[in-house]
Amino acid sequence: MAKFIFVTGGVTSSLGKGILAASLAKLLQARGLKVTIQKFDPYINIDPGTMNPYEHGECYVTEDGAETDLDLGHYERFLNTPTSQANNVTTGKVYQEVIRKERKGDYLGKTVQVIPHITDEIKRRMLLLGENNKFDIILTEIGGTVGDIESLPFVEAIRQLRWQLDPKDYLVLHLTLVPYLSAAKELKTKPTQHSVKELQSYGVQPHILICRTEYPLGEERRKKIAEFCNVDHRSVIEALDADSIYDVPLNLKNEHLDDIVLDKLGYTNLPEPNMDDWMDFLEHHKHPKEEVHIGLVGKYVELKDAYISIYESFIHAASKNDCKVKIHRIQSEKLTDKNVEKHLHILDGIFVAPGFGNRGIEGKISAIRYAREKKVPFFGVCLGMQCATIEFARNVLGIQDATSREFNEHTENAVIDLMSEQQKVKNKGGTMRLGAYPCHLKKDTLAEKAYKAADITERHRHRYEFNNAYLEKFAAAGMMATGIHPDKNLVEIIELQDHPWFVGVQFHPEYKSTILRPHPLFVDFVAATLAYKNRMGK
Ligand code: GLN
Repeated sequence: MAKFIFVTGGVTSSLGKGILAASLAKLLQARGLKVTIQKFDPYINIDPGTMNPYEHGECYVTEDGAETDLDLGHYERFLNTPTSQANNVTTGKVYQEVIRKERKGDYLGKTVQVIPHITDEIKRRMLLLGENNKFDIILTEIGGTVGDIESLPFVEAIRQLRWQLDPKDYLVLHLTLVPYLSAAKELKTKPTQHSVKELQSYGVQPHILICRTEYPLGEERRKKIAEFCNVDHRSVIEALDADSIYDVPLNLKNEHLDDIVLDKLGYTNLPEPNMDDWMDFLEHHKHPKEEVHIGLVGKYVELKDAYISIYESFIHAASKNDCKVKIHRIQSEKLTDKNVEKHLHILDGIFVAPGFGNRGIEGKISAIRYAREKKVPFFGVCLGMQCATIEFARNVLGIQDATSREFNEHTENAVIDLMSEQQKVKNKGGTMRLGAYPCHLKKDTLAEKAYKAADITERHRHRYEFNNAYLEKFAAAGMMATGIHPDKNLVEIIELQDHPWFVGVQFHPEYKSTILRPHPLFVDFVAATLAYKNRMGK
């Protein structure tokens, strides 16, 4: 039987519940336990796939093709184990299932209500990953802040599970904020007291409080929080602001969070966590020998969460290369062929981001032209690869009006075209080419050298693809398809001959990069930028 830890948040949003859950899970995993994390989001969308990055940040894609909350990316990066469809549940999914059952007649004769029907469905999903003995511990993060109207059914489900599960299999962690008032020069515990009271008013008593704070809490304040919130004194955990999210597991370890959790769950005699690999990563991360400058050209650069997996992949790859990657966020909308040199000349590498729609496309194409002509290392992901194809068609093959069907439905030269299986698709939600697909790599290519393998799988999220009608023309002029979907013959990777490092991929490598397994293409791209920097004598 699996044990369940629920993580709620109070006072404000953005306290880092996802990082907290991932960090605790990491410490438990490092003691030999099989751990997974799931996220319950209170919004009514079925998934975040239809949301704008400005609304929701990045949409993270799992192996089995779920479009999910970006916290699942943190879970995978920390734990190095894949998540799945079942790891992200939304209010929309819960209602969809209950309404489906109502129509089928499963509740014939009854009034269908939030309690018990919605809460029963929430509980069923909360316990789902505990079946089949795959995991020892399942952490469940509840999105939003306690007190929000829309998360009430989730909190009620947690309350009910208290009576359904063995007390040794059930734990509630509450993350709160202890703000510092600079005028009073004091940390204030009242918001924490109120947010715990709120939770208690729903019938949920947290076992452990994690207090985010800018300054050390001090013994007196810990005692006060413990007494007012009905938790034992050692279960008030201080979570000081950290320099890096990768310090958080170690900081929580210093506070003995893992010992307290295991004690409450009835575990005895587990070995101390083995964090050797993690420490090794951190050592390289914190003591880089060199620095390279990489431009991230995209249209959501103002918002860090929009490309979170990409930023994190660069951190993993930098540590592997013993260097620091300084990312320059470049708004693609402001780039033109005329000003591109001014914006990009200081860079050692150019990365062009994924995306949808034609805003900023011409700027991306200008950046790619610059990278190709000046032989600056280039890495394009999904839309970035598609733009590299368009750039090559226009400026090398001389097809002036080359574009993607996404930007011009009636074009005569769609070098990127709608995939055949997408042609009948009408609905927008969950209908792209999603999840992991195999790819065969050609011999003696940058891709094969980076992966050190001939067959790989990577995760996708797109509707358009390289138009094979142009394949021969591209190859004859020096842009090669170096990775191909073995059955459907789809072009998944393109490379330029006669360029030190120019790679475009139709998939999203950033979803698979973890601390312990930095993604080979990011690692190799960063190595190419280091080589470029040295070659240029920078
Ligand atoms: N808009 C492009 C497509 O749907 C690229 C998608 C992406 O970059 N994820 O094919």
